[in-house]
Amino acid sequence: MHYLITGGAGFIGSHLSDKLLGEGHKVTVLDDLSTGKIENVKHLEGNAAFQLVVGTILDESLVDKLAERCDAIFHLAAAVGVELIVNHPLESLTTNIKGSEIVLEMAYRYHKKVLITSTSEIYGKNTQGPLKEDQDRILGSPLKSRWSYSTAKAVDEMLAYVYWKEKNVPATIVRLFNTVGPRQSGAYGMVLPRFVKQALENKDITVYGSGKQSRCFLHVKDVVSTLPKVIENQKAYGQVFNIGSQEEITIEGLAQKVIGITGSRSKIVRIPYEKAYEEGFEDMERRVPDTTKIRDLIGFKPTVDLKTIIEDVVRYTKGNS
Ligand code: UDP
Repeated sequence: MHYLITGGAGFIGSHLSDKLLGEGHKVTVLDDLSTGKIENVKHLEGNAAFQLVVGTILDESLVDKLAERCDAIFHLAAAVGVELIVNHPLESLTTNIKGSEIVLEMAYRYHKKVLITSTSEIYGKNTQGPLKEDQDRILGSPLKSRWSYSTAKAVDEMLAYVYWKEKNVPATIVRLFNTVGPRQSGAYGMVLPRFVKQALENKDITVYGSGKQSRCFLHVKDVVSTLPKVIENQKAYGQVFNIGSQEEITIEGLAQKVIGITGSRSKIVRIPYEKAYEEGFEDMERRVPDTTKIRDLIGFKPTVDLKTIIEDVVRYTKGNS
């Protein structure tokens, strides 16, 4: 198979490229290198089955050309990271909505399978857990930047769904819950790479808010072994699936675990949300996925526990600082 991966030089996209190439497939990556990095795919240079195209998903004729040539499209290109979104809400809206519309239109034009990556941000402030795919969304005001990402991704999901329903495009949506692992950058707000870097440098660990908010972290390896099984499964078309771990931990608990594993002398400091992000910032208090649907589809089961995940990120960070 020949896969097109938009955002393939990013954290998840580059691991997906490795996985698909390792299975003998051909991979073309389209990435504008805004948050993606050339270093993430540098080791693939010279691999005849791999091509990196530097360009944007907003370039319709480029996406047209690449979509025609491939067999299926993984659409991962997006403006991501809460900090990036809060600081650049316009970019988040245009890249995420217009870009996805272009990708879906080309999947329709050439009748290609397409997988749209969405996010647990979809559920907004719904703290019920574990969250099922059909659970209600609870969002704050559209004028609060944080919700622009959730809203843009919801539009992407709606587009994918109606392209399937009305135009028969073999489109599937996955909602990723806090994917972590090597190559993830802390530059756009993501908590684990930040805590690990702070701990290794014996600097203060910056816990935002009360630290009682909780998340479940899934190793990127478990994400990229799942995505190809989903895109190739006909039962998945027109459907949405949560992908995440159910090992829940508070952010304060995460900070303590990182300190324990690294043996750091760092201290935990609490930073109010309005200082960390912006005035009136609203966080998700709890985010746990119900993964019954993806388990029933392909037998999904996380294989890496949180301790091993942190150790892996520590190893990577030590090797790259
Ligand atoms: N967070 C934190 N310190 C940081 C970065 C993030 O306490 O330096 C918190 C953030 O406020 C959120 C959680 O960690 O409650 C997860 O943040 P991340 O941006 O990684 O993911 P998301 O908010 O999308 O779940």
